[in-house]
Amino acid sequence: MTTLSTLSTPTAVAVGRFAPSPSGPLHFGSLLAAVGSYLYSKQHAGKWLLRIEDIDTPRVSPGADSSIMHTLEQHGLLWDGEVIYQSQRTARYQEVFNRFQQQGLLYGCQCSRKQINAAGGLYPGTCSTLNLYSKTRAAAPLSWRLRAAGVACHFTDCLLGPQQIAPALAREDYILLRRDGLFSYQLAVVVDDLDQGVTEVIRGADLLSMTPRQQHLFQLLGAAEPVYGHLPLAVTAPGFKLSKQNHATALSNWPACYTMARALAILGLVLPAELQQAPAAEQLTYALANWCPADIPAAREVLTSDFG
Ligand code: GLU
Repeated sequence: MTTLSTLSTPTAVAVGRFAPSPSGPLHFGSLLAAVGSYLYSKQHAGKWLLRIEDIDTPRVSPGADSSIMHTLEQHGLLWDGEVIYQSQRTARYQEVFNRFQQQGLLYGCQCSRKQINAAGGLYPGTCSTLNLYSKTRAAAPLSWRLRAAGVACHFTDCLLGPQQIAPALAREDYILLRRDGLFSYQLAVVVDDLDQGVTEVIRGADLLSMTPRQQHLFQLLGAAEPVYGHLPLAVTAPGFKLSKQNHATALSNWPACYTMARALAILGLVLPAELQQAPAAEQLTYALANWCPADIPAAREVLTSDFG
């Protein structure tokens, strides 16, 4: 079990991270997030950590973690320190969950996804006053939701500027512990970012609307939240992000110099002609000296149909 004290990096000026879910090999959409977060951290003279987000065990694809690491190395994206696996951190998530539960911030919920979809897709708080746990003593498995009325509807993104989130979405009571006994992404990501001393979360724009709830969790834990910034999302068609579900192709199908050059171009840096075919690590070194986050196009999505 990795402990809080071994994860803290109090002396680093800046700490960024890349946190892929190992549901398949790295695809171009994830590479964009990796390159953007790497450049952002390293330009702030910081560390860049790698965390394997394997908390959702049914979605884990065996061997995807090593394949992701191999692809990162091929692109010259070398992380600092040990790789953290969420699957080894459940005792810590349980500790935080218990604390929230004792504070009366959580409630048990028996609603199914089908019922929530029928109610419009956002959870309407059906179980919030039912005190289901003490009534049933958890005879039937419950999910556990956080009371989210205190979540803000806005935040300032370090790349995109001020952001507004629809109040109904920002303040939806959301799941921290799933009915199948697994802790949720929301809980794990914040506990890990806190314990790893992360100061900069740079990731894809698909997670933008989740940011206020993650900031709120930091506040509940009495900790200063990191800076959040969101990068354009690679899509195969408007609204369809590259993902394993959308059959995104593994990056091993292209030379690393090609995929790195494409990622940098999307992030606003066109390499000089003589570097287009150079090793990816060399391209990255050039980008470290020449890339400017202000050059990232403001678009939330970028069409990259060839990688789909
Ligand atoms: N594990 C998440 C993903 O692969 C990223 C989480 C994050 O960056 O906050 O989409």
